[in-house]
Amino acid sequence: LVRLRAKLARSQTTFGKGLLALLSREHLDEDTWEEIEDTLLTADVGVAPTQELVERLRTRVKVLGTRTPAELRGLLQEELLALVGTDYDRSLDTAKRTDGRPATVMVVGVNGTGKTTTTGKLARVLVADGRTVVLGAADTFRAAAADQLQTWGERVGAHTVRGPEGGDPASVAFDAVKEGIAEGVDTVLIDTAGRLHTKTGLMDELGKVKRVVEKHGPVDEVLLVLDATTGQNGLVQARVFAEVVQITGIVLTKLDGTAKGGIVVAVQRELGVPVKLIGLGEGPDDLAPFDPAAFVDALIG
Ligand code: GDP
Repeated sequence: LVRLRAKLARSQTTFGKGLLALLSREHLDEDTWEEIEDTLLTADVGVAPTQELVERLRTRVKVLGTRTPAELRGLLQEELLALVGTDYDRSLDTAKRTDGRPATVMVVGVNGTGKTTTTGKLARVLVADGRTVVLGAADTFRAAAADQLQTWGERVGAHTVRGPEGGDPASVAFDAVKEGIAEGVDTVLIDTAGRLHTKTGLMDELGKVKRVVEKHGPVDEVLLVLDATTGQNGLVQARVFAEVVQITGIVLTKLDGTAKGGIVVAVQRELGVPVKLIGLGEGPDDLAPFDPAAFVDALIG
């Protein structure tokens, strides 16, 4: 976690630092408030949350009167933390169910966002935690996806269930859960295909995967993987997926490569679903639970 904090701090997601510099100006004139607003908008925080935050900051700075640097920093920290949200349940439902069935986790998202990598990294985290895992390579459309997932599986000692290339994703997902039940593992992680060709196509495909998996019992988590570098585009994707399946958590990948970390705020508002995990690089250890306090610390620097 310490290493990840350092990584987060080194990422370019540091718009908090810019905000603090602006708030520390001797005269907070209208131009400065506009710059503060622009900083938030540029970081993809979104229009409504930006306006709310600016209003709150204006009021609190006025009440404060003369400001010491420490007071300003504390104030900004509090307000950014409130913006990111401290009252979400960010825990992952991956423990074996009381009925002895494995917890089932579907990983969904558009191709290229980091779905397969995230599924592999999550398997690694769970195994390191003493859990047993079966992987389902239900992304049967991208030839390399199943190989990629299997490689992750071999690394962590998890069995990967796969089907023929171009085969039926739902049948692979079904078999993966069946295998997970037979092996008596704690968690089944299912990587899905994310071809956003048409909304109906996606809806048919993902909806079917979920329905077929549910023949074994309820799905415990549906994690939506979003690439943080795609900004507002990611929000559009999120909306489409949320219409198709009930998302239980967001995984924001590639936070290491963007200054637009404000998307955390925007996407949570959009879906009413918490960011549960963040990706901070391509390495096996670069997936972490989302910790709002550490995130805000890194923003302010
Ligand atoms: P999928 O098509 O959604 O399954 O995407 P992949 O898992 O194949 O990932 C696409 C690319 O993104 C790969 O090159 C990954 O290594 C890379 N990637 C995934 N997560 C992260 C991350 O958190 N940070 C960075 N920098 N790259 C990532």
